Amino acid sequence: MYNCDSCTICCKFMGVEELEKPRNLWCQHCKIGEGCTIYETRPESCRVYECVWLKTQVLENPMPLALRPDKSRVVIGTANKGEDLILYVGPDRPDAWNKGGFREFITNFQKKGVNFTVCCGEIMTKI
Ligand code: SF4
Ligand code: SF4
Repeated sequence: MYNCDSCTICCKFMGVEELEKPRNLWCQHCKIGEGCTIYETRPESCRVYECVWLKTQVLENPMPLALRPDKSRVVIGTANKGEDLILYVGPDRPDAWNKGGFREFITNFQKKGVNFTVCCGEIMTKI
């Protein structure tokens, strides 16, 4: 099974309720680019979390390495029972979703009727 390898970016972009960790701040337990220092006892929400990029790695056509969240600076999540996608970006690179291969990825899925929302901190923008 594929794993996150050296990507640890959701440990920054996503909030973790159990730890009262807000979005866009590195978790105090993250060894950036290496992994979780409390892996065995990490909170439940961390245990179950898989971004969309990671989920696609078991598919016939997985998302490419260039779009892995630590490289693209975009973490993809789902909304509307998996019908639509949310693109989480950091305030330091709020336009990361509009760069490189990501724009093409979005256009392809928009043609199939998928709606996208960009989430930067508390600001949600439909694109
Ligand atoms: S953003 Fe995705 S690939 Fe990166 S560490 Fe989190 S779950 Fe793994
Ligand atoms: S507890 Fe571990 S897995 Fe959860 S956000 Fe912190 S570093 Fe990441």
